[in-house]
Amino acid sequence: MSNRPIIRFDVLTLFPDMFEAVLGQSIIGRARNKNLIELNFLNIRDFSQDKHRRVDDYPYGGGVGMVMQAMPIYNAYQSIVKDLSYKPKVIYLSPQGKVITQSFCRALSHEKHLILLCGHYEGVDERIIEEIVDIEISLGDFVLTGGEIPAMAVIDAVCRLVPGVLGQEESFKDESHFSGLLEYPQYTRPAVFLEKKVPEVLLSGHHANIQKWRRQQSIMRTYYKRPDLLTKAVLTDEDKAFLNKIEKN
Ligand code: SAM
Repeated sequence: MSNRPIIRFDVLTLFPDMFEAVLGQSIIGRARNKNLIELNFLNIRDFSQDKHRRVDDYPYGGGVGMVMQAMPIYNAYQSIVKDLSYKPKVIYLSPQGKVITQSFCRALSHEKHLILLCGHYEGVDERIIEEIVDIEISLGDFVLTGGEIPAMAVIDAVCRLVPGVLGQEESFKDESHFSGLLEYPQYTRPAVFLEKKVPEVLLSGHHANIQKWRRQQSIMRTYYKRPDLLTKAVLTDEDKAFLNKIEKN
């Protein structure tokens, strides 16, 4: 058991209870139990100075919806950083942010401390973004009701890249997006399902042939499903020759 977690997340949210159900179980739950990662969920409402614990108000200039006020968020943020000798990176989950990718998750997995700010309603007062936020991250070009689901997605995707979180048997190195390619198809028992057989090579026990087949399947899948990824993928001369063959067919 390590003494200090490798990475710490503090999530600023109006709905802390949403998180435990997802991040208290399975691989991430185990990593927390092993103290590899530390997750804290802070209820922004606890930092409101309003007697009704109010955290939102009407938008200046009119318009529909409510806006999350800057001060409760700022107070929550200060409660985390006031005793630190460094400034953790602060991420605001936002549909206006940079769309998250695997390589970005890898970069984040090298941070020691991240603060995630989840908006709700019409979002947060712009001044809190200017004051504390370093990066805005989006889950994709669509709008959700809150930043909680994107925050959980970021935590999950980043934590599984932290050393020790995945067992050896669950390595991420062959997975989709690691080297810019999609993963090869996977099969498990039985060897025949509804008359569909598992590809012969996978039953052969011939490691080199299996590796070659998987690599070619990865290239083929990426070519057909996500050709846009191929421009950035790291390909050997053998890969390129195989890709040429697919393109000619
Ligand atoms: N009015 C905002 C806009 O048009 O940009 C959208 C607000 S949205 C309804 C409420 C909150 O959900 C946002 O503050 C943000 O935290 C979160 N959110 C919504 N869609 C998101 C996405 N695609 N990625 C990340 N966070 C998102």
